[in-house]
Amino acid sequence: MSTFPTPRRGARLALAAAVAVTAALTGPVSYATSPGPADGEPTPGAPGLGDPMFPLDGNGGYRVDRYLLDFDWQAPRTPFAAKATIKATATQHLSRFNLDFGGNTLHAVTVDGKAATTSREGDELTVTPAAPLAKGRPFTAEVTYTADPTQVRHRDDAIETYGWIPTPDGTVVYPQPNGARLIFPANDHPSRRAPITFRITTPKDLTAVANGKLVGKSAGPGDRVRWTYDSEQPLSTQLVQLAVGRFTLVDGEGPRGLPLRDVVPDALVEPTAKYRKLTPDHLAWLEEKLGPYPFNRYGVLVGDTDLGVALETQTLSLVPKADLLGTQVDAERNLVHELAHQWFGDSVALASWSDLWVSEGHARFYERMYSEQHGGDSFEATMKAAYRAHDQWRRDFGAPAEPTEPNLFKRMRYDGSALVLYALREKVGDATFRKIERSWVTRYRGKAASTRDYIDLATRVAGADGKDIAGFLEPWLYGPTTPPMPGHPDWVVDPAT
Ligand SMILES: [Zn+2]
Repeated sequence: MSTFPTPRRGARLALAAAVAVTAALTGPVSYATSPGPADGEPTPGAPGLGDPMFPLDGNGGYRVDRYLLDFDWQAPRTPFAAKATIKATATQHLSRFNLDFGGNTLHAVTVDGKAATTSREGDELTVTPAAPLAKGRPFTAEVTYTADPTQVRHRDDAIETYGWIPTPDGTVVYPQPNGARLIFPANDHPSRRAPITFRITTPKDLTAVANGKLVGKSAGPGDRVRWTYDSEQPLSTQLVQLAVGRFTLVDGEGPRGLPLRDVVPDALVEPTAKYRKLTPDHLAWLEEKLGPYPFNRYGVLVGDTDLGVALETQTLSLVPKADLLGTQVDAERNLVHELAHQWFGDSVALASWSDLWVSEGHARFYERMYSEQHGGDSFEATMKAAYRAHDQWRRDFGAPAEPTEPNLFKRMRYDGSALVLYALREKVGDATFRKIERSWVTRYRGKAASTRDYIDLATRVAGADGKDIAGFLEPWLYGPTTPPMPGHPDWVVDPAT
């Protein structure tokens, strides 16, 4: 995501302050995902994956093979009937399992058509099937609920407000980091990916969109229209997009015939056209650096909202209208940032939230490189400024790969992490750096990858040059103080206060 350059809003959505995340651990919890005794007693799936930032996010004991989400959209800020059908496979002998689910009104859960017992505590929905699930067995959980599209949560960092964000005639969604659970019950962790089918009914004068491809539009019942989207590729729950409004769909074409379709509130089609038409140029520029765009289609969803945050929702980046109504330099920074995320964070997913620097650092790195070449600030000057502040950011926000939960989406994960990549490029040279980058997006395409994976891959790729890349990167990523910048012995770090 990106918050440049729209000013933060003066007022928060009122509901944000009222939401507290109360899923506290009550004692030692084992997050082991190994099965119970072979052929022995079924055991409960872990309530969380033990993420360093959000220990209860995601769940153990099963993997999701596909989500089918049914939304019977009515009107802005109006609760509506919803159903999530979760096709999954047990990865242990499973006595019960958890879904991440926040807010909403739960009605019933079935497993393979039989009523299941449920309990909710914080964001944990515990489902006990009528009979245990054998390891390796596919099963289908169906959750019916009333969705409340006014639910938001708040973070005091670049995320600001997340969840359902109402627009004048509908909604957009900001699931990052863990707000997908406000939209549907999920295995809500960035490392867990599954394809999603969306089936959204709306009044006939509205349009629904979601990640991926429109695979069906049919009339009825009554004055309603049913929209069906298939995400095509699996995605992390934090990258879900689902929007309803009076939209115009603007089709285009990218490099090699890549289908483009922007989703634009009717009144904003013309005012935002100039910058939206730059997407093919942005794709060509990034493909020259990184190789082919990793998905089947792309587009920009123009958010008719005053939340000044853009988000890299997979195949359909959400960009607030203000970002497309200002200067070209500012607009392109946001557009290139979210597009770069399609490679970094979307195609190559995060193994844990501590790996966020890989995603945001790369998005900012390419955003700044592009901007310098298209009328923006000097890349070197911005990196020199980030270098100067880096010890202070380490103290305030944690080293790039050692965030603390409240400081996850702070400046260290943006310019502070782009600086680590800048240092690596200075160390190994541009040709080797390009090889590392190409290798990363190729080797881990469609997978989740960690900071350790990046260090190991950079070491392997640069290894032929005889450089100790792990010994170079580790102090940059984890150390309490900022190492010297290769090639810039005159750069100084201000002391942290
Ligand atoms: Zn970002």
